[in-house]
Parts: sequence; C-alpha cells; structure tokens
Amino acid sequence: MQTPPKVELIVAPTPLHRLPRMSERLGIDLWIKRDDLTGFALGGNKGRKLEYLMAEALGMQAEVVVTCGSAQSNFVRQLGAACSVFGMRCAAAVMDVPYDGAAGLPQGKRLGPSNGNVLLDEMLGIDMRLHPDGTWEELFEKSEELAREYERNGKSVYRIPVGGSSPLGAYAFYAAASELEGEKFDAIVVASSSGSTHTGLAYAFLDSLTSVIGVACDDEPLLAEDFSELSIGLHELIGTGRPLKASDFDLRFDWVGAGYGVRSEAGDGAIELLARTEGIFLDPIYSGKAFAGLIDMAKNGAVSGRVLFWHTGGVPALFAS
Ligand SMILES: *Cc1c(COP(=O)(O)O)cnc(C)c1O
Repeated sequence: MQTPPKVELIVAPTPLHRLPRMSERLGIDLWIKRDDLTGFALGGNKGRKLEYLMAEALGMQAEVVVTCGSAQSNFVRQLGAACSVFGMRCAAAVMDVPYDGAAGLPQGKRLGPSNGNVLLDEMLGIDMRLHPDGTWEELFEKSEELAREYERNGKSVYRIPVGGSSPLGAYAFYAAASELEGEKFDAIVVASSSGSTHTGLAYAFLDSLTSVIGVACDDEPLLAEDFSELSIGLHELIGTGRPLKASDFDLRFDWVGAGYGVRSEAGDGAIELLARTEGIFLDPIYSGKAFAGLIDMAKNGAVSGRVLFWHTGGVPALFAS
C-alpha cells in the first residue's frame, strides 16, 4: 500500500484516557479519545482530514480552496486555519441550517449565526457567503458557483466536499485507528455526519472484535448508502480490506433530535453531565448528541465492557449566539 501524501497540522497521537467517574456512573469501562485536543485551530476531527486534503491542494498548486457547510461549521473554521498555514485563500458557501429535502427544515433551537466558529472564521479572513436556508443540494450548487467565480477570475481552485468527506478524509480516520494499537475496546462510539470519520474507523475495525457505532447527527435514513460509496473510494486508496456495504455500518438515528444543526434536549443534558462529572466539554450538534447516545446505550446494554468515546471536538460552537 502506498500511503497518500500528508502535511503536518495536528499533534498526534491525541490523548487517550479513562473517564473514572462516568465509568462508575454508567457501569462500563469508559475511555475517551481526545480529538477535541488536536492542538490545531481549537481542535476537532477535521484537522486529521485536512492533513491529507491540504497535501492534495498543495500538490495541485491550488490558490483557493472552496467548500460549504453550515454557518457554524467546525470544518470551515479548521479549513480556514489550514489555508492560513499554506498561504491559500479559503472560501465557503454556507447556510444557517442546511437540511435534507425529504426530512424538511428542522424545527428546533438553532445555534445563532454569530460568535462561536463564525467569529473565528472572520478572524481568519475566510470568504464566507451566507445563503438563506435551503437543501443540501442547493448548498452544493452554491459551492460550485463560488468555485466557478474564482476560476473565472483566473484562480486555480481545489474543491472539498462538505465536512472534508472525500476518500482522503476517510483515509485520515483509517490511519487514526492505528493510534489505538495495543488497546482493546469492545465498542467505539462516535458522532457521524458527512461520514468520513465513521467510514475510516469502520473500515479499520471491519471483521474485528471492536464494533464501531456511529451516532447520526442527520435525519437521513439512507446515510449509510453514502458512506458505502465513500468506502469504495477508500478501498481504492488502501488496496487491502474490502469496501463496506451499507449494512456494515452501525448507524443509530435515535439521538438526532429535531434534525441536523439544531440542539436536542438529550444532547444538552449529556453536555452538562460530562462537564459536571469529568470537566470535559462537548458540542451541541455532534459530540453532545453522540454522548447522549452512549449514555443510553450503556444503560440499556447496547454497549458494555471497555468502551471508547471518540470526541470529535466542536467546542467553539458552544459560544455561538
Ligand atoms: C464534522 C464533525 C463531526 C462529524 O464527522 P464526519 O466525518 O463529518 O461524519 C462530528 N463532530 C464534530 C464536532 C464535527 O465537527
């Protein structure tokens, strides 16, 4: 296997430690993987993906990197910081709350379009184009229009899909699994959305004794089909193993709440509980909902033994207003 080129952005391996008070409370042996502490741009799982994505952008001699996401996107913030490091322009088409056409616009408590990640995006000088709420497909079109606008002005553009979920993004998490070498977990629980985090980990632990459980943050029942597609691209990169079928993904939809991009009561409760037992902060859109899932699964026996919560970051969203 030839490993894809990468640049160095994060401090790896990220910390891995036990959560003694939560372990006792839940009756499992609970550990946490601290990707909220990557040491890059206030942390988060996107730093890992960007090590490979930025290497590709550099290889193409891109002048501008274009992506899309929600206004409070953690990916846009980390991408903007990576672009600063390599002297590239970062541009992003965003919506306050993009949504799945079939599920409709979620009715729930929003984060607010200022402060949080948006404050940091402004500091980084990202070219943010805010559009009225619409479907993901509409947002992807806006992103493509933005890329073409730069190209019309003679710039070379590197396009990154939402959340950095290209096969290279999934590769980053396939590679991250090696940071658990020598450790044995019965289950890994992680927040799952655009899919490269879940796909990379699921690929790495396929046919092993460790189950990888993704707690979905999007109200899209067919999400696993997209992840399966992504794993085909990952398989082409890696050469070993096999692409995953949709049924290979353990994706739980019970903690989405009202939908993507809005808070949930269970998620907010989980944030408070982890802060008050272990002094660790989660975010309201992804890791808080995932931890709410972990709490319930520990209580109903869906996970047991030695369990790892993979903290994906997102903490700046706590300050959105
Ligand atoms: C993007 C993100 C996720 C989801 O990761 P995907 O690879 O997009 O599925 C989870 N948690 C946080 C905090 C994120 O920013």
